[in-house]
Amino acid sequence: MSDSDNDNNIKCLRCGTEMVEAYFLTYMCSQPIVQRTRKGVLSAPVQSGTKCMVCQNCGYIELRATEPHKLKFRTE
Ligand SMILES: [Zn+2]
Repeated sequence: MSDSDNDNNIKCLRCGTEMVEAYFLTYMCSQPIVQRTRKGVLSAPVQSGTKCMVCQNCGYIELRATEPHKLKFRTE
């Protein structure tokens, strides 16, 4: 987690309060992932884990891909 320090000052988009990291658990108690797929047999899906930032003031929740670079297809 090389860039975790960069996430320490994320401000809430709604009220500007500093957000904190939290777990966003599904019914199966696993964190969700984001995935992109493309048509074509040679295109494997690309995906990244996510992390959740929550505002302790207004409750705004933001999901962020932990590895956004992995969401690019090789040809993009
Ligand atoms: Zn807020």
